[in-house]
Amino acid sequence: MNTSSALPFLPFARPSIDEATIAAVGEVLRSGWITSGPKVQAFEALLSAYFGGRLVRTFNSGTCTMEIALRVAGIGEGDEVITTPISWVATSNVIIEVGATPVFADIDPVTRNIDLDKVEAAITPRTRAIMPVYLSGLPVDMDRLYAIAKKHNLRVIEDAAQALGSTWNGKRIGSFGDLVSFSFQANKNITTGEGGCLVLNNPEEAKLAEKYRLQGITRSGFDGIDCDVLGGKYNMSDIMGAIGLGQMANIEAVTAHRKALARHYFKTFGSSFEAASGAQLPVADFENSNWHLFQIILPPTIARADFMAQMLEQHNIGIGYHYSPIHLFSLYRKRGFTENMFPHAERIGRRTVTLPMFYSMTTADVERAVAAVTAVLDAAAKKAGAQQ
Ligand SMILES: *Cc1c(COP(=O)(O)O)cnc(C)c1O
Repeated sequence: MNTSSALPFLPFARPSIDEATIAAVGEVLRSGWITSGPKVQAFEALLSAYFGGRLVRTFNSGTCTMEIALRVAGIGEGDEVITTPISWVATSNVIIEVGATPVFADIDPVTRNIDLDKVEAAITPRTRAIMPVYLSGLPVDMDRLYAIAKKHNLRVIEDAAQALGSTWNGKRIGSFGDLVSFSFQANKNITTGEGGCLVLNNPEEAKLAEKYRLQGITRSGFDGIDCDVLGGKYNMSDIMGAIGLGQMANIEAVTAHRKALARHYFKTFGSSFEAASGAQLPVADFENSNWHLFQIILPPTIARADFMAQMLEQHNIGIGYHYSPIHLFSLYRKRGFTENMFPHAERIGRRTVTLPMFYSMTTADVERAVAAVTAVLDAAAKKAGAQQ
């Protein structure tokens, strides 16, 4: 019965680094210059071209990219930033890190992204910015987002960590908007090992981002330096820059392949899967989303931990989950958040699982994942039925 466990391990994410990129990294390592240098400069130039000529600065993580975006926007003590409770905890941690207050708005149960009606309802005189997340690469309604920001005079810091290659009305995420942050962490569609970049409009803010990136150091006067803001150590190395250059060369193929895999997931699950299993598939958006993650919401017949364990033990498939509701973590409970504040986030946060989706994955892998999901959910439904 348990023949599928003889198949190789199928993870939910796996980076693809080609031989040319590995060779380019070797060249950097042999060159005598491995910190920020020509490769980082070239990578920033390539990203800038990709985002329609906008300014781009790279950093050593998506998390510090967002922190610097907040600092550049002058957000700190006494300010409120509205964000989603369903994201990696980095999104709201950076708000606390700069001394501001995270204010959560519940998610839309269909898109699983922040609900823009609830964003509007959460605005107070202290609100300074909105920080949306494009979960799994699916953008929010960008027209509406920027209309709300304009109406209330708010900055927008886009946590576009998952959305490189996503679009809105044919325009790339990052090619428009206010401060847009991407991550190149190992599981993202494009990686530099760890890393991130900020896309921005204002050359003064780009200069400030450079200062925060490197200890607040600025050149002043002839041959002199000064330190006039409190910066950190957030620069990207040329090793990472070389990986990024090699990865970006393939961005169109990566996005196209992920869209094709997502289509194949829908086709293989078939139109009766949701009704038969009680599970919920993601929004079938093959236009805007880069399909960073393929996530389903489990039915109440099985606990997430049991589903994950059975997928691994019986089918040798690694399932991820993204994410637990942030407001229920201890740090946030200490700040006054409790259960039942954001019911959609709590239900979906408990029941979402991430199925395999990566560039080197095949349509046969999709079929294997779907067969395994269906088998595990069928068995759980039978067991639940027998107990009634
Ligand atoms: C990956 C990710 C981050 C953090 O990026 P790092 O590069 O790991 O610091 C933040 N937000 C979201 C939504 C992410 O997916």
